Amino acid sequence: MLADLTRRYEGLRKHLYADDGKLRNFVNVYLNDEDIRYLQREQTPVKPGDTLSIVPSVAGGVPVDTRADLKVGPYTRAAGAGFHAGPTPELTQDEIKRYSRHLIMPEVGLDGQRQLKASSVLCIGAGGLGSPAAMYLAAAGVGRIGIVDFDVVDYSNLQRQLLHGTPDVGRSKLESAKDRLQALNPHVQIDTYETSLSSDNALALFEPYDVILDGTDNFPTRYLVNDACVLSGKPNAYGSIFRFEGQASVFGTKEGPCYRCLYPEPPPPGLVPSCAEGGVLGVLPGIIGVIQATEAIKLMLGVGEPLIGRFLIYDALKMRFRELKLRKDPDCPVCGTRPTVTKLIDYEQFCGMRPEPQAVQAATGANEWEITSLELKRRLDAGDDLFILDVREPNEYQINRIPGSTLIPLGELPRRYQELDPDREIVAHCKMGGRSAKAQEFLGSVGFRKVKNLRGGILEWVDKVDPSQPKY
Ligand code: ZN
Repeated sequence: MLADLTRRYEGLRKHLYADDGKLRNFVNVYLNDEDIRYLQREQTPVKPGDTLSIVPSVAGGVPVDTRADLKVGPYTRAAGAGFHAGPTPELTQDEIKRYSRHLIMPEVGLDGQRQLKASSVLCIGAGGLGSPAAMYLAAAGVGRIGIVDFDVVDYSNLQRQLLHGTPDVGRSKLESAKDRLQALNPHVQIDTYETSLSSDNALALFEPYDVILDGTDNFPTRYLVNDACVLSGKPNAYGSIFRFEGQASVFGTKEGPCYRCLYPEPPPPGLVPSCAEGGVLGVLPGIIGVIQATEAIKLMLGVGEPLIGRFLIYDALKMRFRELKLRKDPDCPVCGTRPTVTKLIDYEQFCGMRPEPQAVQAATGANEWEITSLELKRRLDAGDDLFILDVREPNEYQINRIPGSTLIPLGELPRRYQELDPDREIVAHCKMGGRSAKAQEFLGSVGFRKVKNLRGGILEWVDKVDPSQPKY
C-alpha cells in the first residue's frame, strides 16, 4: 500500500522515506490503531476493511500498557487520590458558593476541590492552546497557575486566543492573561514568567508545579518541554494543532510513553509548516486546549482514565475523534531503560534550526544566499533584472504581494521548476523565509545557482518597504 501511494503521489516519497529507503523516524504508520513498528513494519499483512494511517509529527508510542494500573476507579475518587496526600487548604464561604457544581459531584466533592486548590499547573504559552486551558483551569479553582510567555498581543491572535481582547493589542500577553484570569477567579494565584523557555531555565520553572501544559507552537520547545518533564518527573498535558486537525495526549509519566517515544527525531526544519504559515481554524485550539485542561484536572484529582499511552486525533472537518495506542519505547533516548539524554540539550540545534555556519557558507558561498528587503527594493528601483518567485499559497498571495512577483507554491515547484530560467537571478520569498529556504534548496538540487532567499519574507518587506500592504 505504501509503495502504491508513493507511486501515485510522487511528492509523498521524500516525506515518508529517508535516502536509505527506510521509513522516516518522524512519520508513524498505523494499521487500524497499532503502530506498525511493533508489528512487522512493511511486511504487515493488510486485509480489506483495514485502515492505514500515516501520522506525521505535527506533534507527538509503547509495550508497557499500564492503563489498568492508573485507573483510580471508573467514576469515583479513591481516598487520598491526587497529588497532595497531606492536609489540603480549607475552602472559604465564597469558594464553596463558586465551586458548588463541583462540590455536589462525588468525583470531585469538597475533598477534590481542596485537592485542586492545593495543585498547580504551568502553562507553556498564553496563545491558542494556553488561552482556553488557563481560563478553565482558573475557573475550576486550580490553586496556582503559572504562565510562561514573552510575546505581545497581535491582531492576528484575536481569532483564537480568547485570553486577550481587542484593547489588549500591543500589551504583553502575560499582563493581559493575568488580568483576564484574575477577573475570572480572584481566588487563584497567577504566576507570570516573561521569558522564553530554555534549557537553562526549564527545570527551575517546572519545579514548583504538579502538571505542565504544553501549548507551544514549535519543535525545539516541544522537545525541550518533553525532556524537562521526563527529567523532572512531571506529567505533560500535551496538545498540538494545525489547520483543522488537533492532537492530544499525556506524556512524561513514569508508566507511559513520552513524546520522543512517538517521534524520536524532529522533522527537518521547513518540512512541517507552523500555524503562522499553514493557518489554524480559530475554534480548534479551543477544543484541544480544553482537552489538555481536562487531562490536567483529572491528574490533579486522581480520577478517570488519563490519556496516558493514548494519542487522540481530532478532525474538525469530519467532526471525528480517533485514538491510537502509544507504547513506551524501551530504547527511548530520554525515558527508555538506558537513556542517553540525561540533561537538557541545545534544542534549536537538535531540531536543525541553527545549522553550522561553515556548512551554510560551504554549500552556498559567503552569504550569497540571502537578500534583505531594503536591498531588494534598491535593486528593483535600479532596474536590475530579478525574477521574484513567491512560493506561498494562492490565498496568501491574495492578501499581499511584492509587485511583479510570480506565484508558484512550494508544493508545486518540483513539477513546475522548468518554467523558471536557471540563468536569471531569482529571489524566492514566502511569508517569513522558511518555505522559500526550502525552495532555494530544491532549486539548488536541480541546478539553479542564482537563487537568493528574501530574509524575513513578505512580512519584513511590508514592515520595511511597503507598510501600505496588510500583514497576516
Ligand atoms: Zn520516551
